Amino acid sequence: VAKQAGKARCVVFDPEMHAVAERHLAMESDLRQAIALDQLRVAYQPIVSLQTGRPLAFEALVRWEHPLQGLLPPAAFLPIAEETGLIVDIGTWVLNRACADFASWRRLPGIPPLAGVHVNVARQQLLVGNLEEVVMSALQRHDVAPSCLHLELTESEIMHDPDHAAAVLSELRRRGVKIDVDDFGTGYSSLAILHELPIDVLKIDQSFVAKMSQDHCFAALVHAVTTLAQNLGLVTVAEGIETSDQLAMLQTMDCDFGQGRFFAMPMSPAEMQAYLCSCGTSAPVRSSLDLSME
Ligand code: C2E
Ligand code: MG
Ligand code: MG
Ligand code: MG
Repeated sequence: VAKQAGKARCVVFDPEMHAVAERHLAMESDLRQAIALDQLRVAYQPIVSLQTGRPLAFEALVRWEHPLQGLLPPAAFLPIAEETGLIVDIGTWVLNRACADFASWRRLPGIPPLAGVHVNVARQQLLVGNLEEVVMSALQRHDVAPSCLHLELTESEIMHDPDHAAAVLSELRRRGVKIDVDDFGTGYSSLAILHELPIDVLKIDQSFVAKMSQDHCFAALVHAVTTLAQNLGLVTVAEGIETSDQLAMLQTMDCDFGQGRFFAMPMSPAEMQAYLCSCGTSAPVRSSLDLSME
């Protein structure tokens, strides 16, 4: 910052910057203990079939119940976790928690048949060298079939070292684990990754879904992505569906799955279990025809 201010100027001491740095340090040391002190939480968001309106899977989203600051979203602490490498242990913890909850909900009577559990993976977890071992042992420990687990990676995580990513992900995929490209459309990868990399699912970024109903260019882009995915044998999931308009448009484009506020926001494990029970095993939960629920 001092440099950005210009070479001729000299910033001796900025109390505000000092305070920011101190908060950052305190946060880092708190985060180091968060797993041991059992302060991490997982929120779950249903992933719904756009054909039937039924939840078939869910995504695990990490939260931190900070002793002083309350429940923190990933944006508040993942940057520090990534910077310090703590993200690797956090990622392993989330994976195991999500597999345990998936396994226990699947055994409950009267809930819809769940096909998958989605877990986000950070770049450092790809680089550390034991991701396959960590994933396979979590699946075994919780008795979850590999084909039920979706690992979500963003384009930029994959493109950081595409050859290495391809090697690690191919091995996992050979074991049956599914690979999803998260936030698709926001990165800088070329279309070539779609057939060169071992992937199963494209998750269309919420920024495209948000702009779709106002701007027909975005609708055309999303339609192009779903068409391309179909031709390549990839499944599509639209993120951040907030309105019945967006849902109706995605249905005409034959997008397979969706998640977002329109269906349900991320929720605590207890709320998720209640939600699944309330869905039962028969009638559709929510569709674009269900306007009475708006
Ligand atoms: P993501 O994987 O793309 O997750 C989707 C984000 O969209 C979540 O934010 C979710 O709460 C939010 N969302 C859900 N429905 C809607 C909607 O209708 N409208 C809008 N505008 N947003 C919606 P969240 O939970 O804050 O997570 C943010 C990001 O943090 C995630 O983006 C993911 O990249 C990262 N993240 C979360 N948990 C983990 C984790 O366990 N490990 C790693 N490495 N990253 C994680
Ligand atoms: Mg994700
Ligand atoms: Mg995403
Ligand atoms: Mg996103």
